[in-house]
Amino acid sequence: MSVLLRAVAGPPSAAARAVIPCLWRGKYFSSGKEPAEGSPVTPVLRHLIYKIKSTGPITVAEYMKEVLTNPAKGYYVYHDMLGEQGDFITSPEISQVFGELLGIWFISEWMATGKSAAFQLVELGPGRGTLMGDILRVFSQLGSVLKNCDISIHLVEVSQKLSEIQALTLTEQKVSLERNAGYPVKGVTKSGIPISWYRDLQDVPKGNSFYLAHEFFDVLPVHKFQKTPQGWREVLIDIDPQVSDKLRFVLAPCATPAEAFIQLDETRDHVEVCPDAGVIIQELSQRIALTGGGALIADYGHDGTKTDTLRGFCGHKLHDVLIAPGTADLTADVDFSYLRRMAQGKVASLGPVKQQMFLKNMGIDVRLKVLLDKSDKQSREQLLQQYDMLMNPKKMGERFNFFALLPHQRLHGKSQTNACQSKPSPSPVAGFGELAWR
Ligand code: SAH
Repeated sequence: MSVLLRAVAGPPSAAARAVIPCLWRGKYFSSGKEPAEGSPVTPVLRHLIYKIKSTGPITVAEYMKEVLTNPAKGYYVYHDMLGEQGDFITSPEISQVFGELLGIWFISEWMATGKSAAFQLVELGPGRGTLMGDILRVFSQLGSVLKNCDISIHLVEVSQKLSEIQALTLTEQKVSLERNAGYPVKGVTKSGIPISWYRDLQDVPKGNSFYLAHEFFDVLPVHKFQKTPQGWREVLIDIDPQVSDKLRFVLAPCATPAEAFIQLDETRDHVEVCPDAGVIIQELSQRIALTGGGALIADYGHDGTKTDTLRGFCGHKLHDVLIAPGTADLTADVDFSYLRRMAQGKVASLGPVKQQMFLKNMGIDVRLKVLLDKSDKQSREQLLQQYDMLMNPKKMGERFNFFALLPHQRLHGKSQTNACQSKPSPSPVAGFGELAWR
């Protein structure tokens, strides 16, 4: 393992990611109870008020969808919300080591599943492209391992602004990502790998692929439900009759269709369900079962235990989810038990395991030592701070989780081509067990 981690000889880039704001999105549970500063009437609010006046209260899922991804005014569409100047920070934006270890995970799985002649690396919601940049640096440094493999990169991104930043980060030429440009948009990465952009996973070619989703599932729209003496009632969003241009939560007077997503034996009295996450997991599972590869999903979340997790972030502060929609991020914890159910047994699932354990199993301590040995005093301090942010159980170490979908053959030692031919002992899946380099 340490041979591999030392082979990743990239220079420390601590300075570029030096400032760590104190708030990350996984930090709090609560919604709509924080004091809001002012309540400006944003274009999204105007649009939603018009909509509610015309057709009645909307679901929380519809609200999230409009606020985050409305093509004309959505928060994600024209914002760069990541990093110190933005609204929240993510692990790849904190430390280069995070992406490097994920790069090693993909290579390790590619090797464990028989070193296919080609694979697509598909990222859902790639943000600024920082994570993919760190992964591709590892691919270049381990070029001798991957030299006969035909790799292509596929980014699924709804935001025009972030797509442009990804193109700047990952390619040398200017790629046109205008909303009306024909999709997929194609380019070439700095290391010469073909790269394409899509708006939807469905448009990504089906082929042997590894999928990555880091802090992606938490922004997908959730429906919220409350248990009442009359049964489940959906939480809706309506106009506050007391205050003009203000929204409020109300309960639906009768059953609504999304109730079908609640488990019959559900014991909580408040649940959030995310049908879009289910659709994506089903698509990933079908693809992986058919063509091999795997998916690595990392996010904050729970295993079917939490209740009210919807919250907003603006400028590294918690933000009332109903105030100034379109100016703040909205997010809800990922229910990994739901993701596991939605895989419907087509593929094997692993995790969720805590980020701290996953990164430890991937050899973060060895990698940190390599970087510390190469750094001056100031960079060393930054590297240690970054490590603490990723690993400390009170920071991101225990709030973030890793979850994987892999073909059944990968875990049960059967050959991909001949299900009857047993392999002696499949290597453990890195991260979920210790990284073993064969
Ligand atoms: N993975 C990055 C960014 C996380 S923010 C990181 O960890 O730093 C969420 C990302 O998902 C953004 O890139 C956002 O534009 C994208 N996104 C949000 N909703 C999406 C959707 N419905 N389809 C595709 N991308 C989406």
